[in-house]
Amino acid sequence: MRKLASVQVIRKLSPIKDADRIELAHIEGFQCVVPKGRHVGDKVIYIETDSICPKNETFAFLKGKSHIKLQKIRGVYSQGIALEYHGDAPVGTDMTEVLGITKYEPPQQPEDTIGDFPSFIPKTDEVRAQNILELLTKYKGVPCYATEKLDGSSCTIYRKGKHIGVCTRKREVDNTSRMYQTAEKQGLIKFLTFKDSGNSYAEHDWDFALQGEFVGPKEQGNHLHLSEPHIYIFSVYDINKQGYFDQDSMDVFLGSHDVDTVPVIDEFNLTDDIDALVKRAIGNSTFGNFPREGIVIRPIEPIEGLIGFPGNRFSFKVINPEYQMKKGE
Ligand code: ATP
Ligand code: MN
Ligand code: MN
Repeated sequence: MRKLASVQVIRKLSPIKDADRIELAHIEGFQCVVPKGRHVGDKVIYIETDSICPKNETFAFLKGKSHIKLQKIRGVYSQGIALEYHGDAPVGTDMTEVLGITKYEPPQQPEDTIGDFPSFIPKTDEVRAQNILELLTKYKGVPCYATEKLDGSSCTIYRKGKHIGVCTRKREVDNTSRMYQTAEKQGLIKFLTFKDSGNSYAEHDWDFALQGEFVGPKEQGNHLHLSEPHIYIFSVYDINKQGYFDQDSMDVFLGSHDVDTVPVIDEFNLTDDIDALVKRAIGNSTFGNFPREGIVIRPIEPIEGLIGFPGNRFSFKVINPEYQMKKGE
């Protein structure tokens, strides 16, 4: 679960051009506009975007806004809010529940579901670069690649024993759903079928899952302006070994079966400079003349003895603030 509110410190304060009363506070990798008078080293309760705050005295200043969004104030991006904090809780303490904060989820297309997401496959998720500053410093210089982050619905297609299933972020859908039908149309169901089924695509006799983004006319505002739904794969998970394929093995495996993957944007050495990473996230989509949602960054080579990343996987996202502003979330 994402910590939406936590105790943090102001790392740095910088002036905002032509503004007398406000300045920019740097908290973890985030930047947030605060009234003047705060100091570097001050503890705050930092509340991230997407937080739904309760309607009470503490949050009266939000004037009933549904959830916290990215804002542009005097030409600078302001992410989340920083409440003054004078308590004893150590930096990092999760305050989400104590404050009664919940997460805003954009409305989803309803699907008929037939069961829970399987427990033997990790759910798709990506941590934000701004939440892992120390890890970025630790792995600075590592050769990485960035793929385009597509704003659709998470999709997992797996086989286990004799069963082939298609799942959204949280549930398994039935074979009449749009997601299942799209997987079928793209040959992904066939791809996962067993060797002994007599199917020529089925060369593999181990259990695995393909994970990708389902995009199309009815998904998340169809920001790619597609006329047909489509699934773009970003991960392959080996259910028997309980581990993800690294980049090379995935490319070979999917490439040899003509499976569509999320577009690769570029390769570079990892930096811990958040502004530089955000600059990389800004840009147009590979699909056309409109801003992309962001990028997902992963190492080119697997890293020995990796620690610290959620789910023990070196992978994180950088959202394009221009996209976020435009989408209004
Ligand atoms: P948050 O964790 O910030 O609250 P969230 O969990 O709702 O947000 P997203 O912001 O959509 O999720 O980011 C993670 C998701 O991005 C993944 O679960 C996956 O479905 C999707 N995704 C889209 N494109 C890619 C890509 N190229 N690589 C990896 N994941 C991708
Ligand atoms: Mn998440
Ligand atoms: Mn998403």
